[in-house]
Amino acid sequence: MVMQKGMTVALAGNPNSGKTSIFNALTGARQHVGNWPGVTVERKEGHFTYAGVHVTVVDLPGIYGLTSYSLDERIARDFLLHGKPDLVVAVVDTTNLERNLYLVLQLLELGVPVVLDLNMMDEIARKGIEIDTVALGQALGVRVVTTVANQEEGIEALKEAIVESEQHHPAPTFKLDYGPPVEEEITRLQNMLERSTNLDGYSSRWMAIKLLEGDPEAQRQLKGQPQEEEIMSTVMAATVRLEGRLEDGDIEMALVERRYGFLNGLAKAIIRRKTGMERRLDISERIDRIVLNKYLGIPIFLTLLWGAFQLIFTLGGPVADLVDAFFTWLGEASAKGILALGAPEWAASLVADGIIGGIGSVLVFLPNILLLFLVIAILEDSGYMARAAFVMDRLMHALGLHGKSFIPLILGFGCNVPAIMATRTLSSEKDRILTILINPFISCSARLPIYVLFAGAFFAQAQGLIIFSLYVLGIIVAIGTALLFRRLFFAHEIAPLVMELPPYRLPSVRSVLIHMWERSRLFLTKAGTIIAITVILVWALASLPPGVEYASEASLIGGLGRLLAPLLAPAGFGFWQAAVALFFGILAKEVVVGTLGTLYGGEATLTVAIQSAFTPVSAYAFMVMSLIYIPCIATIGAIRREAGWRWALLSVTYSLLLGWLLAVIIFQLGQLLRLA
Ligand code: GDP
Ligand code: MG
Repeated sequence: MVMQKGMTVALAGNPNSGKTSIFNALTGARQHVGNWPGVTVERKEGHFTYAGVHVTVVDLPGIYGLTSYSLDERIARDFLLHGKPDLVVAVVDTTNLERNLYLVLQLLELGVPVVLDLNMMDEIARKGIEIDTVALGQALGVRVVTTVANQEEGIEALKEAIVESEQHHPAPTFKLDYGPPVEEEITRLQNMLERSTNLDGYSSRWMAIKLLEGDPEAQRQLKGQPQEEEIMSTVMAATVRLEGRLEDGDIEMALVERRYGFLNGLAKAIIRRKTGMERRLDISERIDRIVLNKYLGIPIFLTLLWGAFQLIFTLGGPVADLVDAFFTWLGEASAKGILALGAPEWAASLVADGIIGGIGSVLVFLPNILLLFLVIAILEDSGYMARAAFVMDRLMHALGLHGKSFIPLILGFGCNVPAIMATRTLSSEKDRILTILINPFISCSARLPIYVLFAGAFFAQAQGLIIFSLYVLGIIVAIGTALLFRRLFFAHEIAPLVMELPPYRLPSVRSVLIHMWERSRLFLTKAGTIIAITVILVWALASLPPGVEYASEASLIGGLGRLLAPLLAPAGFGFWQAAVALFFGILAKEVVVGTLGTLYGGEATLTVAIQSAFTPVSAYAFMVMSLIYIPCIATIGAIRREAGWRWALLSVTYSLLLGWLLAVIIFQLGQLLRLA
């Protein structure tokens, strides 16, 4: 005789989702009603047999989530963990999908195997709505069936799905990304929990999340464990840290918001409404209807980007002039002062030409950079950035990337280093490496000083357009590189992924300013350290050997430049000053301008000097070279950390060759056209 296989299945769902109807349809008459242990809440259990498998079905109380606040939720949670069901069938009222999926998300986070039952499909059909069940199943990593429980439709398929799950043991793979500050704390807690604690069936991630939410049941679970105090004090410290970093300082709210943000994006991706249906729209949805529109989405995004550029330059320009005037005055005044004190000529030169000339020529761009980071902070905090990613999703897919890769790319306009770190939110390793590799071509703020200087000197009439063209060129190179590298290294399908769409909100002035400042500080620190040291080094090399004329070809730096210059001659700037500027620019791209400033003197003389050294065409070639030729040291370091040495090396070689090649092509083409 063959032993009959058996399994236990729990039905979970919101009240009125149709659980009892499903239960009755599955089990028919074979059911009995009792109470849950210790309480007077009704417990129904029934049976059915399908394909030789004996299945026990338990109808759980209707619940909205798995917090331990209500008795029903506690009963459901207890049974899910300690009743050890082989499978949970999540019954969902599909007419209210987004809200109902909240519980499903929690079940998946808890780590129980789930089959998703979309119930009330008759209502859905009546409303003229279509649901992409395949995409839904892929996004959540679960099997999806559809039913009309009160008409017993789809029940056979549900039974089949239940019994099949017994053979496949679907391990839940879904993991919601809560964003960097929260994820950091979760990982920290998870490590502690795994080391020391008896989790009694809870997954360490679930436990960490619940502890951060202040869930009393999770705290009770820790009671009396050897590490209780240590863990609770870590939780406390994490809470304080997070409250400082999160928008409203409320962790539980922030987590709930992430979940709804995810579900909002998911619902948008899988629900198709046939036209002509009236529906209620809240404000976010109204805005999204325009902003995410198939035809308007990309034009709106480009218009916003263009507006941002205008703001950065029209507002930043006059302030930059003031800063420049200040440094010119400071340089002259301090040189006079130092000489008046009886100090030697070289000391005055060090301070005026070296330090103030070099750092000043970089700090002139602080107003532009502050504005750039301000714009990025507003786009992020308002929730628009996520929409931009959504809008670009299709385009990104054409590149073999997921829409989510778009956010690190936009952040790259600020600085490639944090942008490369932001790729950690991508779940596919290949997508992540590809996004990292194309990031350096996104023109970061450090390259802005170069453009502003050269475009101002050669293309005063069309300055904005010229700078915009460089940004666009960077994007084109990034796209081309993505297509090429995808072919060469990562031939694979792109996993369907869901984009989180957080609700729109008016960004608070405080948080925008904090974000802006956090990023600009990096620029200032760089100006004070790496750039300062480099310009002093450049000054010293320009003043040695002793007795040489400052910044002349006979100086040490002139010698180094002469060595490199022939390589650059085909690109139209084969003279030693340009060569050393690019050479030291590897340390940080602002240094290109800082070096020129140290060699040629402050802004006013600098502009005149480069006007006589470059032609408009070679100036443009030089800007293109500066854009592409190599990631700065900090970026190379970030690539190495996030992707490894091999990719970092590839990135350096590839960009060096490509930058040189493009500069040469531009200059030669310019020559040719002028001849014609
Ligand atoms: P429970 O609270 O989750 O146990 O939900 P019930 O099974 O009691 O169902 C709530 C109501 O929805 C009842 O009136 C059911 O007849 C009705 N219902 C259940 N499933 C469906 C369905 O697929 N379509 C429609 N139109 N009604 C349903
Ligand atoms: Mg019921």
